[in-house]
Amino acid sequence: MTNQQLSGVPAADRLAELRAGLAAVEHRIEAACAAAGRPRSAVTLVVVTKTYPASDTRLLASLGVRQVAENRDQDASPKAAQCADLPLTWHFVGQLQTNKVRSVLRYAHHVHSVDRERLVTALSEGVLKAERPPLGCLVQVALEKEGAQHPDLGAGRAGVAPEEVAALADKIAEAPGLRLDGVMTVAPLAGPLAGDPAAAFERLWEISTAVRAAHPAATMVSAGMSGDLEQAIAAGATHVRVGTAVLGARSRLG
Ligand SMILES: *Cc1c(COP(=O)(O)O)cnc(C)c1O
Repeated sequence: MTNQQLSGVPAADRLAELRAGLAAVEHRIEAACAAAGRPRSAVTLVVVTKTYPASDTRLLASLGVRQVAENRDQDASPKAAQCADLPLTWHFVGQLQTNKVRSVLRYAHHVHSVDRERLVTALSEGVLKAERPPLGCLVQVALEKEGAQHPDLGAGRAGVAPEEVAALADKIAEAPGLRLDGVMTVAPLAGPLAGDPAAAFERLWEISTAVRAAHPAATMVSAGMSGDLEQAIAAGATHVRVGTAVLGARSRLG
């Protein structure tokens, strides 16, 4: 079942599908926490609802989901408006252009994809203008950009090189209206850590440790998706971002 076929699915059937998806993911998270000797409460499931309709977000909320993530403002903005009556926390996890900041600030509680100073400035100014509560920010780390021996790897991908994290974290911490929540990564597709999510997430944990030494409240470690949440939990992730394993395969690139 792909998301473009969903219009024909009765709500009761879709609810049952989502309930089963959530139960399967919950089981995986519990097992991974147990294997890592971590309490289940140490890991928060953030359900990535991108490409799926607002009706799915409503069904997920009825099943107890409280944390949802989106990666494109064009889709997220109307969806969040349609779900404004629900007790949801919205995470923005996609590449964010500064011209979308004003819109994202209407619904997002956390942005996981802060990757440049210019964006920090835009978010800070936007929060002040909107007179909204502080925005939680995570530095997106591009592990494929680590080290001088791979200078062009991942050049076009989102995220800062590990050696640039501390400076960007300081900028966020100093910016009015922003709160430094922690660090985020997506397992790299290039570079020495490609194909080794366990090693990648361990590297993220080291980076998080350094950030927390300077900013003790920046405890969020956002890592792990449908295919690698176990490795992320083993390496200390506090937030796993799971889409496909809950909602089904996406029919277009998310
Ligand atoms: C789509 C997406 C996810 C979820 O991926 P799945 O493989 O569907 O679980 C997590 N994080 C980010 C940044 C994404 O864009």
